[in-house]
Amino acid sequence: MQSFIINKNVQPNGDYEIHNATTGCMHMPLAVNQIPLGNHLTCYGAVSAARTAWANQRINGCFYCCNPCHTT
Ligand SMILES: [Zn+2]
Repeated sequence: MQSFIINKNVQPNGDYEIHNATTGCMHMPLAVNQIPLGNHLTCYGAVSAARTAWANQRINGCFYCCNPCHTT
């Protein structure tokens, strides 16, 4: 299992980005801006959890650390 977080600040393109806190990421937001998403086998689980919690927001995986889940 890996630990994921979502950046509580929206990106310029309107997405809320998910990062992998277990592997780390050079684009990880500041700790104060991280909302934990819990532990998931892959980023897909983290994206799914985030979409459940923030149904009206655009959720996307980080290009760098969650590339399989990066769509836009
Ligand atoms: Zn990342």
